[in-house]
Amino acid sequence: MPESNVNSPALQPDMLHSDVSLRSLNTFGLEAKAERYYRATSVDSLKRILKVEQPSLVLGGGSNLLLTKDVEGLVVHVDIRERRLLQEREGCVLLQAGAGEPWHEYVMHTIAEGYGGLENLSLIPGVVGAAPIQNIGAYGVELKDHFSGLKALNRETLEEEFFDENSCKFGYRASCFKGELKGKYIITHVRFTLTVDHHDHRLNYGDIRSILEKSGKSPSPKSISDAVVAIRSSKLPDPSEIGNSGSFFKNPELSESEFLALQKLRPDLRFYELPENRYKIPAAWLIDQAGWKGHRRGAIGVHDKQALVLVNHGGGKGEDLWALAKEIQQDVEDKFGVKLNPEVNVI
Ligand SMILES: Cc1cc2nc3c(=O)[nH]c(=O)nc-3n(C[C@H](O)[C@H](O)[C@H](O)COP(=O)(O)OP(=O)(O)OC[C@H]3O[C@@H](n4cnc5c(N)ncnc54)[C@H](O)[C@@H]3O)c2cc1C
Repeated sequence: MPESNVNSPALQPDMLHSDVSLRSLNTFGLEAKAERYYRATSVDSLKRILKVEQPSLVLGGGSNLLLTKDVEGLVVHVDIRERRLLQEREGCVLLQAGAGEPWHEYVMHTIAEGYGGLENLSLIPGVVGAAPIQNIGAYGVELKDHFSGLKALNRETLEEEFFDENSCKFGYRASCFKGELKGKYIITHVRFTLTVDHHDHRLNYGDIRSILEKSGKSPSPKSISDAVVAIRSSKLPDPSEIGNSGSFFKNPELSESEFLALQKLRPDLRFYELPENRYKIPAAWLIDQAGWKGHRRGAIGVHDKQALVLVNHGGGKGEDLWALAKEIQQDVEDKFGVKLNPEVNVI
């Protein structure tokens, strides 16, 4: 990845800058300019800039974004740092983190403090404030499993509001902030309830259990996190080496009749059963079977080991990546009758 320019003296926080390159601020490493750019390090600073101008884009770690063009108007980069212990209850703690805390570093911090719950979500890129937007998930755990509310700034009224789990309407890679409240709030703080002892370990996903057995380590937040980091590092391309945004599409969910029709066409179909007679199909399998894995078109393409990951080998353009994504989407629909929906936010 190119050198970060965020900390350069020319780009001081809490000040407005013009014509700023966003290349180092998105994990695809795509070139796009922000007409105006403001890095807010506090709620007051956010309020100050919102009084002047509403952002065209709210930016966290840029790891779930496809920038297809320059951003007209203002990019507000939320960089509020805070790590607070709000309450200790029997066997658990209530924590609050600032939206700008880097997610993985924050997970490491909770583990070092002896708290359990977030370990399966280790090594997910991005920052704390964006994690509820798509209810991040990995290895059998979702953000909502340890979520205890969030604080968000209403962009219109500039009031700070509290959202509990119900009001966030979490779903699979979804929340109200990606749905009906999209673009209406800026998340400033997120709260978690984590365990102090009697941790609820989730070992039945990926190779977590077998890695622990091989190493002879008993399950703990630290040993599970180490296993998750090892699995992820061996499977997923590192954005610092090859530009990407993780899974580009969501895994489609089918009704029973849709599923049975597809299974008739492809008896080798991979699937997971969901409640209420619904079925989840791995999007990676569909893309692979459609022949796209490892496809390369100049500087952009599909990763050769992970069909769900679109990549920028260097110097690629966001608009070309989006054109490729749409081609894959159409081809999968033509071949399997299944519509793939992007997980990544396309700008
Ligand atoms: C290699 C790799 C692996 C990944 N693995 C996973 C995985 O296992 N599971 C998973 O769920 N995701 C995964 N992701 C996707 C991504 O890391 C997460 O979605 C992450 O939470 C995005 O955080 P971010 O700070 O980078 O968000 P950004 O990309 O900066 O923003 C994402 C969206 O949230 C909005 N937003 C950001 N901050 C705020 C805020 N404070 N208030 C309101 N809106 C905001 C943005 O406008 C945008 O629409 C992966 C990505 C990569 C590159």
